[in-house]
Amino acid sequence: MKPIIKLKNLTKKYGDFIAVNNLNIEIKKGEIFGLLGPNGAGKSTTILMLLGLTEPSNGNAWVCNYNATKNPIEVKKHVGYLPDNLGFYNNRTGLENLIYIARLNNIPTEIATKKAKELLTRVGLDNNANQKVGTYSRGMKQRLGLADILIKNPSVIILDEPTLGLDPKGIKEFLQLIYKLSKEEGITVLLSSHHLHQVQQVCDRVGLFVDGNLIAQGDINTLAKSIFNEESHTIEIKLKENHESNLNTIKNLLIQNKLASKVSIISEKLIINCSDDNTTPIVKSIVNANFNINHLHVKSYGLDDIYQRYF
Ligand code: ADP
Ligand code: MG
Repeated sequence: MKPIIKLKNLTKKYGDFIAVNNLNIEIKKGEIFGLLGPNGAGKSTTILMLLGLTEPSNGNAWVCNYNATKNPIEVKKHVGYLPDNLGFYNNRTGLENLIYIARLNNIPTEIATKKAKELLTRVGLDNNANQKVGTYSRGMKQRLGLADILIKNPSVIILDEPTLGLDPKGIKEFLQLIYKLSKEEGITVLLSSHHLHQVQQVCDRVGLFVDGNLIAQGDINTLAKSIFNEESHTIEIKLKENHESNLNTIKNLLIQNKLASKVSIISEKLIINCSDDNTTPIVKSIVNANFNINHLHVKSYGLDDIYQRYF
């Protein structure tokens, strides 16, 4: 299947400064892709190029088979974009704001009203439809923003830092809403964030951005593997009888049986690095060799560890 979003050698320079460097990403229809990285990494710049709002210095971005630079209007028809700072008319109600936006999109008033009401229900604001937006919480405004971009039935939605300023409960609810929309309706989602732990549950895949460079992409496991090589899991084992010779016997056993890529002996403990979670076969082979285990600790690397390493 053709990717619905494709970035090829996408580059943005501001003078001598490279904000986005030779970016290559393909996103499939229905995927939730997270563009992750610290402030200044180049996430917003990438999004602006995808929307045709700023021109790449080199390379291309295609969205729904349209070249974003050459056909920005077509792209805008298919893409709903939620910027990091969205504005509404505070002295109008949520419903009035939505109807207004629908009218701007050339939707006749009657249909606009019906659609706005439906969308408010879909984003969980049906009880606040007639409340002025000025009284909405940040979380409610984000939901209204989502309703706003859904009005034109986009096949792709792009959200720049959608969890910014939300409280933990609001973040969870908003991401669940995005997840539901994507999985139930096949909407492709590209979201950016500098908070890994917040978004990692909802992203099918992520791309990790540092200083304009994509340093790794994939699902969390692939990402951990590519960054930590064959060492995405670390198992720490203490034996009941932890003589040096016993530890060395096990070390050789695990390496020979290809259960571990690396085994170190540190302060009378075995530190075992392996790619998949080989805990069960490793424990089995130790027990089968007639050793008793006193202590076992498994650590698998996640996005936070990746993040720690780079930022
Ligand atoms: P992010 O969204 O990941 O925080 P941005 O894409 O906003 O990062 O910015 C990436 C880098 O490009 C930053 O160093 C920023 O200062 C710089 N930058 C962004 N827009 C401009 C601009 N219009 N002119 C010059 N530099 C810019
Ligand atoms: Mg940004």
